[in-house]
Amino acid sequence: MSKGRILFIEDNPLQAKQTRTALESADYEVILAENGGAGFKLAKTQPVDLVLLDMVLPDFSGEQICQWLKRDETTQSIPVIMLTAKGSVEDKVAGLQIGADDYVPKPFSDLELLARIQVCLRIKMREDELRGVRNQLENQLKDVEQKAITDSGTGLFNRRHFNELLDKEFSRAKRFNEPLSCLMLDLDHFKDVNDTFGHPAGDSVLSEIATLLQQDIRMIEVAARYGGEEFVLLLPKTQPKEAVKPATRLLESIATHHFKGLPADRVLTVSIGVSGLPDPLIATKEDLIRCADFALYKAKRAGRNRIELCDGAELAKSRL
Ligand code: GH3
Ligand code: MG
Ligand code: MG
Ligand code: MG
Repeated sequence: MSKGRILFIEDNPLQAKQTRTALESADYEVILAENGGAGFKLAKTQPVDLVLLDMVLPDFSGEQICQWLKRDETTQSIPVIMLTAKGSVEDKVAGLQIGADDYVPKPFSDLELLARIQVCLRIKMREDELRGVRNQLENQLKDVEQKAITDSGTGLFNRRHFNELLDKEFSRAKRFNEPLSCLMLDLDHFKDVNDTFGHPAGDSVLSEIATLLQQDIRMIEVAARYGGEEFVLLLPKTQPKEAVKPATRLLESIATHHFKGLPADRVLTVSIGVSGLPDPLIATKEDLIRCADFALYKAKRAGRNRIELCDGAELAKSRL
């Protein structure tokens, strides 16, 4: 089995042949490029574990090629060993400064070259391992972050995250004097669904409702599960009166939906309460929620399967 694939960029046929033989005897696979341009192309298109790069080439300088390799995202993690006849300290430093991993002056002993290749490949292997672990950790972190804001039963945002989003949306709407609507949606007689068809059927209804809400996301920026069978939606830049239209669409799409866990003739309805800005008597995001809640209560009292609005003045009156 090959110990690794080495791209050898070398224009001198004699040097190329000699070193290639030494590398192949040490069980490396060698791809040869006779100039810098062809070498760079190969590094980008072929799987390569290490580049051996001659510094003096017919088209571009080795430094130039090294710079390209180290700047290109697809090649920057490949170790580069520079080979050159130049032996001055300045040249070595220049090569290392542009990102070469090691430097072997010509003429070199095959043994030394092989030892340096081995070191570079060992470092690369560790770096690859570390990169793998880091990616894994990053993915796990993303996963945890996603879970922390998601309601597991429906895949919608959970209430805690909703409150954070509401905070932002409410402040922005107030600051720029923009409209903002809040819809509080509650399933009608849902206890009856559980009692008749079982809790698992009820769970699957909730998850289908979530899908319906997300399908109608055109004007809805935020859809969250507020509690058991209660959902909350935010419609930025939308007056409460304008929000009645998408609310009606939701009402209809739910009432006409065939839920998988329920008999085909079983109609499920929802009630929706709407509140919103601008409203001089809605000063805080809590007021906005209280108004939507009261509107929902009105919709329930009026017979369910409907939309009701409530503004700050009405809420204040209801408390007298
Ligand atoms: P109303 O029209 O007045 O809203 O009647 P309702 O039966 O929907 O309201 P009620 O508050 O009496 O009951 C709510 C029901 O929702 C009872 C509860 O078991 C059910 N529920 C809440 N969360 C879940 C859940 O995650 N899964 C299931 N299957 N049921 C849930
Ligand atoms: Mg050369
Ligand atoms: Mg209910
Ligand atoms: Mg409820």
